[in-house]
Amino acid sequence: MKILVINCGSSSLKYQLIDMDNESVVAKGLCERIGIEGSKLTHKATGKEDYVVEKEMPTHVTAIEMVMEALQDPTYGVIKDTSEIAAVGHRVLHGGTTYSDSIIVDEDVKRVIRECFDLGPLHNPANLMGIEACEKAMPGTPNVAVWDTGFGMKMPEKAYMYAIPHEYYEKYGIRRYGFHGTSHLYVSGEAIKFGNLDPENAKVIVCHLGNGASVSASIGGKCVDTSMGLTPLEGLIMGTRSGDIDPAVVQFICNKEGKDVNEVLNILNKKSGVLGMSGGISSDFRDIEKAAGEGNHLAEVALEAFVYRVAKYIGAYTAAMNGVDAIAFTAGVGENDKNTRKNVCNYLAYLGVKIDDEANNVRGERRVISAPDSKVKVMLIPTNEELAIARETLALIK
Ligand code: AMP
Repeated sequence: MKILVINCGSSSLKYQLIDMDNESVVAKGLCERIGIEGSKLTHKATGKEDYVVEKEMPTHVTAIEMVMEALQDPTYGVIKDTSEIAAVGHRVLHGGTTYSDSIIVDEDVKRVIRECFDLGPLHNPANLMGIEACEKAMPGTPNVAVWDTGFGMKMPEKAYMYAIPHEYYEKYGIRRYGFHGTSHLYVSGEAIKFGNLDPENAKVIVCHLGNGASVSASIGGKCVDTSMGLTPLEGLIMGTRSGDIDPAVVQFICNKEGKDVNEVLNILNKKSGVLGMSGGISSDFRDIEKAAGEGNHLAEVALEAFVYRVAKYIGAYTAAMNGVDAIAFTAGVGENDKNTRKNVCNYLAYLGVKIDDEANNVRGERRVISAPDSKVKVMLIPTNEELAIARETLALIK
C-alpha cells in the first residue's frame, strides 16, 4: 500500500511516495518557487534518473498537478494511476488547542487549520492549500493531517502554561505548543526500539539540532516537556533564532532603535541565533565551525553558547523526569557534527554519560555512540519525518 506524504511551505512543496509494505521510498521530490517566477519541480524515483520540470506554478494546485503527472510519467513515474495512492499524509503546522492527534481531514479540520492561521502564518495557509489541491486532484482519496504541534500537545499543564494572566490562554490559546513534533515522535520511538528500552517507561531526551533546533523529554513516548513554545522562537539557540531571551530585550531594542515589535521579532527570528551572535558570519554551523577554527572569537562564543544551552536543557529535562535512560541526537547538526555531540556530552559526566569517540566518529547513521559502561545510552538516530507522517496516516486509514 502506497502513501503520499506532502509537506507544504509558503512557496515550496516536498513530497515522498512511500510503500508501506516495507516502508521504502518509491519516489520523492520538491517543487520550488511556487507563486514566484522560475518555478521548478525536481522528481527522483528510486532506480531512475532525476526528472526536472521547469514550468510556472502559480499556486499549490498547479504544483500538486505536476507532482501527479511526474508520479504517473511513463519514463520517470512509479504508478499507473492515482488509485494506487491509498491516502495522503500532510504535515500541518498548527492545530491550536483543538487537535493534537492525527486525523482524517474533513470540513471541521479545515476550519480549524484556517482558524489557526495567526498561530502559523507562514505554514498553515500553505498546508491548507496542499490539502485542497489533493482533494481536487484525487477526489475520494483520504487526506490525513499530522500536526507538528501534536507531540508537544501531550505535555502536562505545568509545562505548557506560561506564567501570564490566565485570560490570554482562555481567549487566544496562548500556551507552549512545541514544534518538530513528527521528528520528536519518530526519534523518541526509534530510540526506545533501537536501545531496547522499556516502551512504557523509558525516559528519553531527543536533541533535534538543525537550522531550527529543539529538545524534548518523553516518558514511554509521551511528551513531558519540549523547548519550543507558542512559536518556534523559544528554547535553544538556532541558526537564525535567538531562542530563550528576556522579553524586556524586545522593548529595549524598540526604544533604542526606533523599531516596532514586529521588526524586532523579525530580527529575533531571522537575524539572531549563531548568525547574529557570530557578527553575521553565517547561520550554517559548518561556516561557524570553520571561522571558530580560524580563531574568530565571536564564532567560538556562538558555538560554546549553542552547546551550553543544549546541555542546560538536558539537565533541566533530566530533573523534570527524575532521570534519563537515553539521549538521542538528530537533524542536520545532530546527525553530522561529532564535535557538537561530544561537547554537549562533556557537560553530562555527572549523569554518568560517557561517549565512545570511535563510535561517535560517524555521520547520518543510526548508532549507539556511548561507551558500554555509560549510565545513559547516547544515540544518533537520523530523523525521518516523512515516515512518521506515513505511519500516522496508515494507522488512521487501516
Ligand atoms: P537541518 O535544518 O536539519 O536540515 O540542518 C541544517 C544544518 O545542519 C545546516 O545549517 C548545517 O549548519 C548543519 N550541518 C549539516 N552538515 C553538517 C556538518 N557536517 N557539520 C556541522 N553542521 C552540519
